[in-house]
Amino acid sequence: MQVLVIGAGVVGLAIARAAALAGHDVTVAEMTGGIANGVSSRNSEVIHAGLYYPTGTLRARHCVRGRRMLYEFCASHGVAHRKCGKLVVATNAAELAKVQTILAQAQANGVEDAEMIGGNAARAMEVELSCIGALWSPETGIIDSHGYMRALWGEFEDRGGMIAFQTPVERMSYRASHWHVQFGGRDAGVAQFDAVVNSAGLGAQALTRRIEGYPAEKVPRLVLGKGNYFGFAGRPVFSRLIYPTPIDGGLGVHVTLDLAGRMRFGPDVEWITQENYAVDPRRAESFYARIRTYWPGLPDDSLVPDYAGIRPKLRGPGEGQADFMIAGPADHGMARLVNLFGIESPGLTASLSLAEDVVKCLA
Ligand SMILES: Cc1cc2nc3c(=O)[nH]c(=O)nc-3n(C[C@H](O)[C@H](O)[C@H](O)COP(=O)(O)OP(=O)(O)OC[C@H]3O[C@@H](n4cnc5c(N)ncnc54)[C@H](O)[C@@H]3O)c2cc1C
Repeated sequence: MQVLVIGAGVVGLAIARAAALAGHDVTVAEMTGGIANGVSSRNSEVIHAGLYYPTGTLRARHCVRGRRMLYEFCASHGVAHRKCGKLVVATNAAELAKVQTILAQAQANGVEDAEMIGGNAARAMEVELSCIGALWSPETGIIDSHGYMRALWGEFEDRGGMIAFQTPVERMSYRASHWHVQFGGRDAGVAQFDAVVNSAGLGAQALTRRIEGYPAEKVPRLVLGKGNYFGFAGRPVFSRLIYPTPIDGGLGVHVTLDLAGRMRFGPDVEWITQENYAVDPRRAESFYARIRTYWPGLPDDSLVPDYAGIRPKLRGPGEGQADFMIAGPADHGMARLVNLFGIESPGLTASLSLAEDVVKCLA
C-alpha cells in the first residue's frame, strides 16, 4: 500500500519505519523543517518501566512491551541509553501507602523486579535522599531520544521511505478507495494514498476535523498540560531517577538525568489554553518546596528555568487519567485511516509497540 504518515515525531517515525519494514511504500508529511520539533523534543527522555498505568489499558500494555522493544532496539542500533533505575520515594505514611499501591500496579502490569525497599536501603543507594521507604524499579532508564529518532529515520529511509518537510496536511477526503490529501507549504498540491496515519501530536484533533465526513462526535477534546523544567546549577548529587508520588495530571516534580549525568527537575503540571513554551521563573518557588520534601539539601538559588513541554491530554484537572486513543476503521467507520490522540507520556517508551499495532490496523 501507499501509506501516508502525518507527523515526524517519535511516534510517526516509529510507525513509518514499521510500515516500511512491513513492505509498504511510505511517505511522512511533516509541517516543520525537521524531525522531532513537537512534543518529542520536550520531554524527560525516560524509558518508563510501566509502573503506574491501570492494567489492561493501552498505556500499560504499550509501555511494558514498548520498553522491552526499545532496549533491544537501542542495543542493536547503537542508541545511547542507560538503565539507571528509579526510586519512587515516600516521605510520610500516606505516601508509603500510595507507593505500595504503585508496586501492586507494577506487578499486575508484569513489570520485572520492582520491589519495596526501606528508607535506609534507599539512602544507601542515594545518600542525599530523605524518605521512609521507596519503590525501586531497576528497569527504568534514560535514552538519547534524538539519537533514537535519527536511527528510526535512517532505517526508514534505507527501506525507501521519504519525509516531506515543510509540508502540512491541510485536509483529506476518501473517494473511490483512495485518500485524497491536500498538502500546503513547499510542495502544495493533492496526492492519493491507500492508507493514512494521523500522528500529528498536538495537531491531531485539528487535522481530524478537516477530514471530510469524519464523525465530529468522535474527535476527542484536546487539553494542554504544560510541564515546566528547571535545571540544577551545581554538581549532580543523584545517579538514579528520583520520583515523588504522582500528582493530578503528572508524575510529580522528579529528578531527571541526562546521559552526561546532569540533573534537572520537572515537569510540573500547568493547565494552559494556548501553546506557549516560556518557563515562568516564579514557578521555581513551588519547585523548591516540592523537591525539599525528598532532598532537604537542595541549595537556595540553584534552580534555573530550563524548558517546557506540552502533554496532549484528553482530560483536564481532576478528571483522572485518560488512556491513549488509537482510532481505527472499527471506531470511526472510515477505511484505512488511523488517528492517534492523547499520546502523552509514556509515548516515547511505547513508540515501537504502538507502531506495530497501528501497522496491523492498516491491513
Ligand atoms: C513534559 C513531557 C514529558 C514527557 N516525558 C516522557 C518520558 O520521559 N518518557 C516517555 O516515554 N514519554 C514522555 N513524554 C511523552 C512523549 O514525549 C510523547 O508521547 C511523544 O513525544 C509523542 O510523540 P508524537 O510523535 O505523537 O508527537 P510529536 O512529537 O508532537 O510529533 C507530531 C508531529 O506532527 C507534526 N504535525 C502536526 N500537525 C501536522 C499537520 N497538519 N501536517 C503535518 N505535520 C503536522 C508536528 O509538527 C510534529 O512534528 C513526555 C511528554 C511531555 C510533554
